[in-house]
Parts: sequence; C-alpha cells; structure tokens
Amino acid sequence: MSLVPLHTNHARRFEDNRFVYPVLSRRSGGISVGVNLNPDKVCNFDCIYCQVDRTTTSETRFVEMGQLLAELEDTLELVTSGRIFEHEKFRDTPAELRRLNDIAFSGDGEPTTYKNFDEIIAACADLKRRQRLGGVKMVLITNASMFHRPHVARGLEILDQNNGEIWAKLEAGTEEYFKLIDRTTIPFRQILDNITAAARVRPLVIQALFMRVNGQPPGQEELQAFCDRLSEIRAAGGKLSLVQVYTVARKPTESYVAPLDDAEVDAIVRLVEQRTGIPAKAYYGASQP
Ligand code: SF4
Repeated sequence: MSLVPLHTNHARRFEDNRFVYPVLSRRSGGISVGVNLNPDKVCNFDCIYCQVDRTTTSETRFVEMGQLLAELEDTLELVTSGRIFEHEKFRDTPAELRRLNDIAFSGDGEPTTYKNFDEIIAACADLKRRQRLGGVKMVLITNASMFHRPHVARGLEILDQNNGEIWAKLEAGTEEYFKLIDRTTIPFRQILDNITAAARVRPLVIQALFMRVNGQPPGQEELQAFCDRLSEIRAAGGKLSLVQVYTVARKPTESYVAPLDDAEVDAIVRLVEQRTGIPAKAYYGASQP
C-alpha cells in the first residue's frame, strides 16, 4: 500500500535513499517518514486507481534490512535535528509543520507481503525507542489481505506496543465491486474476516477510496452495502475509530478512473456517519497530501 491516500505517488527517493522517504504531510501536521517494504513494486492487489508507476521497473528488488535501518536512523535524525529543512524540498515548510509526525509503512506494494514483516517492524520500533521517539506513531497502511498469517499478526502486535496505528483499506460492499476495483484473487470475505479479527484486538482506521469508473460514481446500493459491511464488523466486536473517505488525487493506473467531486465525497462521509455511527472524514481529489 502506498502512502496516503493509500497510494499517493510521492517520490520514493530522498537523496540516495532506497527504502525510506520523508514526506511533508499537511494532513497530519508534520513530516511523515515513509518506509517502502516493496521496492520491487509487486502487490497482491492490482487496484484500478493505484498510483504506483509500474510501467518502469525498479533497480532495487529486495529489502536490505541493514540498509533500510541505516536510512531510517539517518532520516529520523535529519528531521528531529531540523536539518531536513535546509534541504531544497523542505525549505518552504511552515514553522507549525516542522515536526516529526509518524513512521509510515507503505510504499510501492502491500507491506505485509514482506516475508520478514514482523522482524522489520520490531527493528524499526527498537530504533525509534533508542532515538527516544516513543511518542512518534508507527502507521501501517495495508490492504488487510495478510493479517491471518502468523508473522503478520505478530507484526501487528509489535505495532500495538509501539504507538502503532493500522489503516486498513476497504472500499467496497460487495464481492463484485471489490473485484472490479481491487482486482485480486483474494476473496472479499477474507479481507472482511481479517479486518474484523484485527479490529477486535485494537481499533482500526478504515481507508476507503471511491472514484468514477467509466464516468460512473459508486451506486447507492454499493455504498449502502459498504456501510452494512462496516456495521457487521462492529456488530462482531470490531472497533473502528475512523473512516477516511478519499478519492483519486493523482494519475491512476487506468485511464477510465477519475476523481469524485468534493460534494460526492462529502455525501459518502455523511452516509457513513448516519448509517454506522463511525466518525468519517473527507479527503478530496485536489487536497494536499
Ligand atoms: S493495494 Fe492497490 S493501491 Fe495499494 S499498492 Fe497495491 S495495487 Fe496499489
């Protein structure tokens, strides 16, 4: 899953970094340090709106843990010391945004498909502790497809112990629409079961991206079904703290995909809140990252 909104195409390289990339996030009010666990750009979904450019191949194919941790250490130091704001890309950062907000596991694919997911989460959490950054959040941006794998479940527990937040993507109410948007062989039921099980252990944030497909916004029936799925997760004991409603903000994979208008995003936010009682927030197509 790429970084907000799910898959915003921030340049992944900072200076010579291969795995760690700082991003100014106006939305979160500070610098988010992204960690890319999918440098090969492989994903187990093939979302029609994905903003990862897969027309070119990446030079970096595998995660090198030592290199990744070195880059993370340097980047955190660069942000906390304020030296990053001497860099031309960050020079114009307003004073109130000159702070480290989070470390985000996102990138050019689904981070939980990385085979040493639990190990890397533990190592990053250790590093954060050593740098006395206990208050800094660790955010996992995920499609929830692998939560049932033991090493991923362990990684989620490590996040829980280290000021973690899980942002899980769910943007359909029916199997048919899920397959149309996310184009994966993984059954919709598996995703719903994974989100439900994870949300029983800790509150999750849901990331939902809605769009026009061939000019058509999602139908009312689909949106009602989406709300029904959210309600079912809660009825099964799942805690959902927020639903982030997005639309397409940057060039999508498929040319037949286009953003919703702000008013359409607002209408989905209202529907979610009215139907489910879960707080929801709008992120518009042209909004800042
Ligand atoms: S989950 Fe979808 S949007 Fe995220 S990286 Fe994979 S294909 Fe792209």
